[in-house]
Amino acid sequence: MPSETTSYVETPKSLATLREEIASGKTKATALAAGYYERIAQVNPHLNAYLNLTKERALAQAERIDALAAKGDPLPALAGIPVGIKDTLVAKGAPSTAGSKILAGYEAPYDATPVARLEAAGAVLLGKLNCDEFAMGGSNENSAYGPVHNPVDLDRVPGGSSGGSAAAVAANLAVATLGSDTGGSIRQPASFCGVVGVLPTYGRVSRYGLIAFASSLDRVGPLAANVRDAATLLGVIAGYDEQDATSSLVPVADYAAESDHGVEGLRIGVPAEYFAEGLDPEVREKIEKGIEALKAAGCTVKPVSLAHTKYAVPVYYLIATAEASANLARFDGVRYGHRSPEAKTLAGLYKNSRDEGFGPEVKRRILLGTYALSAGYYDAYYRKAQQVRRILAEEFLTAFADVDAIVTPTAPTPAFKIGEKADDPLAMYLSDIYTVTASLAGICGVSVPCGKTAAGLPVGMQVLARHFGESTAFRVARAVEAAGL
Ligand code: GLN
Repeated sequence: MPSETTSYVETPKSLATLREEIASGKTKATALAAGYYERIAQVNPHLNAYLNLTKERALAQAERIDALAAKGDPLPALAGIPVGIKDTLVAKGAPSTAGSKILAGYEAPYDATPVARLEAAGAVLLGKLNCDEFAMGGSNENSAYGPVHNPVDLDRVPGGSSGGSAAAVAANLAVATLGSDTGGSIRQPASFCGVVGVLPTYGRVSRYGLIAFASSLDRVGPLAANVRDAATLLGVIAGYDEQDATSSLVPVADYAAESDHGVEGLRIGVPAEYFAEGLDPEVREKIEKGIEALKAAGCTVKPVSLAHTKYAVPVYYLIATAEASANLARFDGVRYGHRSPEAKTLAGLYKNSRDEGFGPEVKRRILLGTYALSAGYYDAYYRKAQQVRRILAEEFLTAFADVDAIVTPTAPTPAFKIGEKADDPLAMYLSDIYTVTASLAGICGVSVPCGKTAAGLPVGMQVLARHFGESTAFRVARAVEAAGL
């Protein structure tokens, strides 16, 4: 067991409880925020989850909420709720680095849409959370600002790339947070830290103000201590945004209310490909228990086939790196962030600024992506990857003709030790096997806690649903959560 002294796990109060306390005047939003800042001051030095705090902004918002409550005015959905956001999301006037040195000192002149929506719903923004550089990674060890420690066991990674967002919820340094997920970056850290993480359908949540990694894969989503709270947050941030042409006009459901509907009669698919070689036996056992719990709650469980799963990691790492190589071209030392002081020529300025500003994993991906897109290799790699991506998506659609949701482990192992895989990028990439498929297919999913290993490490179950099937994923996740494994 992780020893008491190295665990900073604490469960936040639920949104419903906090809202009630704020509405009745029992708790003041200003006092709540101050309490969170106190806990952050004590705990964050051990976790390195927050990169910076937005105290002035939080205080102004909390005062607004207290004034509303004092007048007895109706309170918005997240009135006074302390939240944190991943540093890949910009917030006006706050440093926004995406975990990279190249953006050190950059302050965004505007709010990302999901951040603006949280605040419009009354949430109090505490600060910005650590992550892998440009969201490239699965352990938070690629941050230019140091690794995040898993609150369950400080020697272990919190997962990544939204490691700070998951650790903050697990340690009660925020009631809920936002992360971004390109190939698993919300789901996998949620699973490693024992919290709930949501991958919304592609287009469900605006990407305006999300620092781009791979634009056809990037999504913004919530992390929270329980499924209902995560569903409430999604309801707040989801919906069309004229600033993001890929955001969808599909109406936003009342996800929290729909998550109450139960699972009686739902058909659950289990793909054998996700229970094959490489899956940690303890993780398998916990997920199997979760599946039993779903049966006991009235679901029917049947096998589904996702035969092309084995191609997902190479396909993902071709498409994601190709898009990243294009997206990251904008960091040139001229328009944003780090500018090399030494350069004598314009070309030298570009070269030095990028060389000094980007970390090794980001450079590796720019090289890979540039190669995959270059003349002569484009057809062999990039085009082929796009074709297989299509097959992977169609395979999910075929499976969803027979089932309402698909359940899998979120990750093949529980949280690993800091440093354990840091020198082996391939091992790190391969551990994304269960999450990159839904990213490529554009479908939605939830990672929900599904028991702990004998060593006390959290295991997450991934619940996948078809495009815009978030309510179904939440219902299934609620049933797994209720089983209390
Ligand atoms: N671990 C994956 C990667 O390194 C996923 C990252 C993400 O979803 N942003 O690309």
